[in-house]
Amino acid sequence: MLSRGSKKPKWMRDIAKERIDILFTLATKEFSQNPLRSHRYVELARAISKKYKTKIPKKWSRSYCKTCYKFLLPDKNSHVRLVSSEVHIKCHECNNVMIIPYKREKKIKRRSNINAYIIKKRANE
Ligand SMILES: [Zn+2]
Repeated sequence: MLSRGSKKPKWMRDIAKERIDILFTLATKEFSQNPLRSHRYVELARAISKKYKTKIPKKWSRSYCKTCYKFLLPDKNSHVRLVSSEVHIKCHECNNVMIIPYKREKKIKRRSNINAYIIKKRANE
């Protein structure tokens, strides 16, 4: 993905991340009053993320549509459902369904693997 040009310095990317965070926070606050402004904030956040080659933080990854890039608020213009081990987010702006693998299970598994490793290690001592 970073085929051309070099990465921006870390401090720059940190500022970019902070600005993205602020934009999404504002978008959340404004949505009930001014949804169009919220969509605009997402647009700005995406522009920053592209320009500074920094990802939109995970905590906001469910707050916008990956297809139409509109701001999404659960139960307002999106619908979140858990289907087996996936999170299905339906965007009511374009009717697209985003599927996000449900990570918690994986994390628990990983942790138990680490614990097993520690126990093994202790047993060998
Ligand atoms: Zn959409």
